[in-house]
Amino acid sequence: MLFLMIRAVAFDCDGVLTDNGSSWQMIHKHFSTGAEDDEKHQKTLRKFLDGEISEGDFVEHDIAMWRKSRSEIHRDDIMRCYSGTGLMEGAREVVQSLKERGVFVAIVSSGVDLFVGAIASMLKVDDWVANGFEWDDDGALVRGLPTRVYTHDKGKMVEKLVRINGLDPAEVVSVGDSGTDLSMKIEGSKFIGFNPTRERSIEEFEEAGVPVVRGKDLRMIWNHIFPEEDFFPN
Ligand SMILES: [Mg+2]
Repeated sequence: MLFLMIRAVAFDCDGVLTDNGSSWQMIHKHFSTGAEDDEKHQKTLRKFLDGEISEGDFVEHDIAMWRKSRSEIHRDDIMRCYSGTGLMEGAREVVQSLKERGVFVAIVSSGVDLFVGAIASMLKVDDWVANGFEWDDDGALVRGLPTRVYTHDKGKMVEKLVRINGLDPAEVVSVGDSGTDLSMKIEGSKFIGFNPTRERSIEEFEEAGVPVVRGKDLRMIWNHIFPEEDFFPN
């Protein structure tokens, strides 16, 4: 069997490069005024995951709820939601080692751009894309930006990555923790499931027959990217 060398890795952010749940959910938690809000949010989240409402509607619904607890929301308020959120164990080492080998490292996240952008510059990845907000000149929240990364169709961005960098899909690996991240696995490319937490994601990974790494150390994906190597390089 002929192995094509891996030349690019596309990472999901929330739960893969960083040790957190959804970066949207974290804002919600920050602004939630109680159980009633949480219930509404969960209901909308379920509708969204089932494809009944769009990404944009979901975000607008959430923003309207945040505004109930604070009429003006500043960029700093959003950043504060992520204080104390750390990188996934091994994330720095994996990204650095990939880059040392000349592998292109990208983040394709449908999470919040303020958060994902901070992680992207911390890890010095080559490219990143996420969703986010429009701010006024004083840094106050105006509205959600049009969706760039669709949770159910992240492959569009992986295809773009392939096109822009002149890659063969077989040279690309995507890494995600959710069933929806399987949409990153464009035709001919590879996918690694990393530390899935939701039952639904575990089932979807099993159904798709992709390799799954359990546990919270990103270094464990290494021999799925480089099967001829048993261990992460020291
Ligand atoms: Mg994730």
